[in-house]
Amino acid sequence: MDAQFEDIIEQARREGRTFLMEHESKAILDSLNIANTGAALARSEKEAEELFRSIGGPVALKVASPEVVHKSDAGGVRLDLNDAEEVRQAFREMAQTFRDKSMLGVTVQRMAGPGIEAIIGVAQDATFGPVIMFGLGGIFVEVLKDVSFRSIPITESDALEMIEEIQGHKLLQGYRGHCADLASLKGLLLKVSDLIVAHPEIAEMDLNPLFLYPQGYMAVDARIILREGRPAAPAAPAAGQDLHDLFYPKSVAVIGASGVPGKLGWNVFTNLVSHNFKGQLYPINPRAEEIHGIKAYKSIKDVPEKVDVAIILVSANMTPDVVEDCCECGVRYIVVESAGFAEMGENGALIEEHMKKIADRYGVRLLGPNCSGIINTHCSMVQSIGIVDALSRGNIGLISQAGVCAAGMLWGLRHIMDFGIIGTIGNKLDINETDMLEAVSTDENVSVICMYLESVKAGRRFIDVAKRVTLEKPVVVLKSGRTEAGKKAVASHTASLAGDDLIFSAAFRQSGIIRARDYEHMFNLARVISKQPFPQKEGVFIITYAGSLGVIAADAITDNGMRLAELEPPLKERLKKLLPDYVCGMNPVDYTFSQNSEIVKKTIEIGVESEDVGSIIVVLQAEILDSYAEGLKGIDFKGKPIIACVAGKEFAMEDVIKMEKIGMPIFSTPEEVADALAIMFRHAKRVKRERQS
Ligand code: ADP
Ligand code: MG
Repeated sequence: MDAQFEDIIEQARREGRTFLMEHESKAILDSLNIANTGAALARSEKEAEELFRSIGGPVALKVASPEVVHKSDAGGVRLDLNDAEEVRQAFREMAQTFRDKSMLGVTVQRMAGPGIEAIIGVAQDATFGPVIMFGLGGIFVEVLKDVSFRSIPITESDALEMIEEIQGHKLLQGYRGHCADLASLKGLLLKVSDLIVAHPEIAEMDLNPLFLYPQGYMAVDARIILREGRPAAPAAPAAGQDLHDLFYPKSVAVIGASGVPGKLGWNVFTNLVSHNFKGQLYPINPRAEEIHGIKAYKSIKDVPEKVDVAIILVSANMTPDVVEDCCECGVRYIVVESAGFAEMGENGALIEEHMKKIADRYGVRLLGPNCSGIINTHCSMVQSIGIVDALSRGNIGLISQAGVCAAGMLWGLRHIMDFGIIGTIGNKLDINETDMLEAVSTDENVSVICMYLESVKAGRRFIDVAKRVTLEKPVVVLKSGRTEAGKKAVASHTASLAGDDLIFSAAFRQSGIIRARDYEHMFNLARVISKQPFPQKEGVFIITYAGSLGVIAADAITDNGMRLAELEPPLKERLKKLLPDYVCGMNPVDYTFSQNSEIVKKTIEIGVESEDVGSIIVVLQAEILDSYAEGLKGIDFKGKPIIACVAGKEFAMEDVIKMEKIGMPIFSTPEEVADALAIMFRHAKRVKRERQS
């Protein structure tokens, strides 16, 4: 197909066009064996008539002009022409309508039989590059914007998910006699993805409409838009990131460490000392002899030993020189916590550029600037800019620009969740979110990763890395800045639908990332995932003391695509013996106020025995929460997750903390619990499927 493709592109470029007309676009489809109605060019009335005769049935006539992008809007589409006279007449009218445009002629094509109208398209995203879209045509796409996106290239399971994801997908499976050939549709999505990989000079594309049939499909219209210039060569994939010594340094120097409380240099150094960092510490300050009893040096150059990590806290304009000093002394990683760089404007951006050049020259990796360093509880290292209180060692990784890792936030969360590595990336001059994700994921102490993102650099690599990581460790992302990127006028329909946030959501789905709705949602999910296994089945067993909360929980799990579990008869018998006479249901089991830790424990033990139970929700009384902490210890949950729901938990925080410490996550509402379990269930299912494929 290449020769023909090249010819078409060459001609367009010669004529100064980026827009390929329908007959050109369809010639490209032909070469890929993508079924279409054809579009033969007729330059005269006579040629049109001849084409009509050779097609031998009703035809459509469409204007062929490099100046007409949207043909029907301009009156350039005539459908269902049944005899030669109609065709000639239509040609004449068309010539009249477009007499002011440079009209090549008309295309003549056969009429497609009625089918389900769909659209497949390609657009460019600023973060992720080429993206592919699928949706149902007509009002579905115009009004409801019921479309799905994925970053190109896609896999077979991406194609399948794209089809399943749209609201209207039930129509495709069969409704009132209509249905679509999903296998061939999937194949078409893959073909389009392959086309774009092979020909990155294609910027946008619309197959709109595409008719779907019980057998096969037919592209009725095709529009391809080329890039303005030659596409940039794809960046070589970066090597796997090993930031181990950044996370576990043997020695840390703090340049700008201070003995004066209130200064940032005091905070950072105090954090390192008070958390008992296990390695060597070197405060660097030209005016101090010692800080916190540790010998200070005038310059990094005076430090007698090799330094793994240097934290820089001097003002922005002094930073490049200090970076150079560090590089000269063989420092392996530089963490710039100072602010005043690109986030402040052009001057700061120039300083950054300068700094990056120096670090690159020495092959030294740089974190920040404008960040809050690394926390690694497993080596008692806290580099934060704000004073951080004692932290327990945990298995949650957290990657963030900085704000979400503020000391104040950790101060609260540390009571109910335990972090392993917290990495802040700030302006991500060198080490970015993807590098950090890759590196944190390889840490054996971390089993779930949270990320707070405002933007993503090099989007496709992010997807590729995240795709790998999520098969091993769940990743929960909170993405903010959900505004539409300033859109320029676009020629393709697909590009007009490709909103910034929509593409992020698609990229997250494509990589198996769990997208959190808000800050609390992210930490709630991470908290459960860090303490509990994933549900392997959708059946849920509910134990409650308040009937209403049991009903709400049952509704909530159904709303989230889960269901109540059905206990096997012998288990029902066992449960019956345990229940007081006034308890009627077997799921939810409602003990009313006679609920106590002993009875809850025994009921849970019956629940975990059931083949149908994938997870357990237990609604507990806040006022006696304390009494459960002991009772629930030592239950064998057989790998099934349990979440407690405690209405009013904020008034019983001491007991909540006790429960969290024994690994029992506590949420406030049944809806939150059901949401978390359903998200975990779907994730586990996806991982299983992806591992098999
Ligand atoms: P536009 O440039 O306006 O997108 P199209 O080629 O998509 O022009 O034609 C407009 C509409 O006409 C299509 O949405 C489709 O409903 C109908 N149509 C066009 N070509 C055919 C055809 N060959 N067979 C059946 N319907 C067609
Ligand atoms: Mg069209």
